Amino acid sequence: MPRIIVIGAGVGGLTTALHLATRGLAVVVVEKTGAPGGKMRELEVDGRHLDGGPTVLTMKWVLDEVFADAGTALAEHVTLRSLDLLARHAWSSNERLDLFADVGRSADAIGDFAGPAEARRYREFCAWTRQIYQTLETPFLRSPRPSLKELVAANAAGFARELWPLAPFSTAWRALGRYFHDPRLQQLFGRYATYCGSSPFLAPATLMLIAHVEQCGVWIVDGGMHRLAAALARLATARGARLRYGLGATEIAVVDGRVAGVTLSTGERLDADAVIVTADVAAIAAGRFGRTVAGVVPPMRYSQRSLSAMTWAMLAECEGFPLVRHNVFFSRDYAAEFHDLFGRRQLPTAPTVYICAQDRTEPMAPGCDGPERLLCLINAPPIGDTHAMAARELDQCERCTFGHLERCGLHIQRHATTVTTPSDFERMFPATGGALYGRSSHGWLASFRRPGSRTRMQGLYLAGGSTHPGAGVPTAALSGRSAAASLLVDFVSTGRFGRAAMRGGMSTQ
Ligand SMILES: Cc1cc2nc3c(=O)[nH]c(=O)nc-3n(C[C@H](O)[C@H](O)[C@H](O)COP(=O)(O)OP(=O)(O)OC[C@H]3O[C@@H](n4cnc5c(N)ncnc54)[C@H](O)[C@@H]3O)c2cc1C
Repeated sequence: MPRIIVIGAGVGGLTTALHLATRGLAVVVVEKTGAPGGKMRELEVDGRHLDGGPTVLTMKWVLDEVFADAGTALAEHVTLRSLDLLARHAWSSNERLDLFADVGRSADAIGDFAGPAEARRYREFCAWTRQIYQTLETPFLRSPRPSLKELVAANAAGFARELWPLAPFSTAWRALGRYFHDPRLQQLFGRYATYCGSSPFLAPATLMLIAHVEQCGVWIVDGGMHRLAAALARLATARGARLRYGLGATEIAVVDGRVAGVTLSTGERLDADAVIVTADVAAIAAGRFGRTVAGVVPPMRYSQRSLSAMTWAMLAECEGFPLVRHNVFFSRDYAAEFHDLFGRRQLPTAPTVYICAQDRTEPMAPGCDGPERLLCLINAPPIGDTHAMAARELDQCERCTFGHLERCGLHIQRHATTVTTPSDFERMFPATGGALYGRSSHGWLASFRRPGSRTRMQGLYLAGGSTHPGAGVPTAALSGRSAAASLLVDFVSTGRFGRAAMRGGMSTQ
């Protein structure tokens, strides 16, 4: 039976390990930190735990499939609740707009906010984003690595007919301008480009499929998102994977042109027939796993990096603005904000601020009278490897961020705060500069430029948010499944093991 090593216990690595262990393969996961989750991390602030990474869970069907594929049900491991109120958006103390899971309610809210014509165009926008999603789900999202050439070759006329109305060559911003005449709505929906660390002014219009994904449902995990990582880790262990924490992989050994093992930070060497790297691919290109494998992915140019973030995880008392679970406080000038981030590569002087109020559900959770748990996030340039933030700069950034919240009517009295900067993210996710979403999705071809699960080095596979189909909890899980499926197909086809050797057969989904 081949020996498999998975580097990294984020959602991508855990999904890969679970998929392979369920099929009876000998899987070892090495994770440099002391816990599973990666970016889906839990922070402790003054004795209370809160999510310090992802907070918006979408595409639940992916997780349903991951757990079902391992012979169980997601609901047996974590409790998820869907939100009726997706998010509250504000531009000032008297400009607020809520979006709901129900399109009709959102259209009514948009009608009240910006007029009936805008509400009608919102419904047209929903139809367009649904069409983008439906066109791209199977050939793109679920494919291990789509190539434009193959997509076109497989169904040139049909594909062109379906793709053309999606405005594939337009930027998200331009396409949104055709639907929304109120610049605030253009900004609101343009923000979805930041879900994969990109600028709405440079990302392709097709990325607006994220609007449809969110419209299909946003879930809360009881006890925090980290419970999901813990559940995946427990299940992978129960299926036979071995998870080893506190061990960094420092080198991938190659013998006779194929992967032979991994050297750990302790000096220990683990032999392997296949290695799946779920760290950011920029770390491979930067030689963090040795020179021999560095060339298997193209180097990541600085200009190709996605966004980083500044986060404040805090216990605080809030007054004024009626926070819900997900809240967005928009800057006045989105173009200037993204010029700061991608053009000048500096913290925005007037940032858009996201707050996840983690004690707030619908209805508001009881026991929230004292300080509540907030994760506050602004986008930041990925300069964590070249620029150490001075105290003065951090101070200035806090004044801009919390000053904007004040102007929107939210008064926050902080009790305890843990700040995370791009440099902190660079330390956690090396060679990225703190970029959190792999390569940015700028330009209409960008989505085809993320590496797929296979590499040209035999036995070396990739998964995680920096690979196809991109960053995000469900998409990283999809990539993990693709990597596992590619490995199984390759090993069966090269006779390295037979189908009969695997419990549960072979799935290539
Ligand atoms: C602040 C923040 C907010 C986000 N918000 C959302 C959201 O709301 N919704 C959403 O869907 N997504 C969100 N994301 C993105 C999402 O969290 C990620 O895309 C996803 O979790 C990535 O999972 P992954 O397995 O690819 O990688 P990671 O989570 O990065 O896991 C990689 C793991 O590899 C380990 N590792 C790296 N190098 C080595 C080595 N040499 N040896 C051993 N181990 C190593 C790391 O420690 C890490 O645990 C957010 C991310 C952040 C940071």
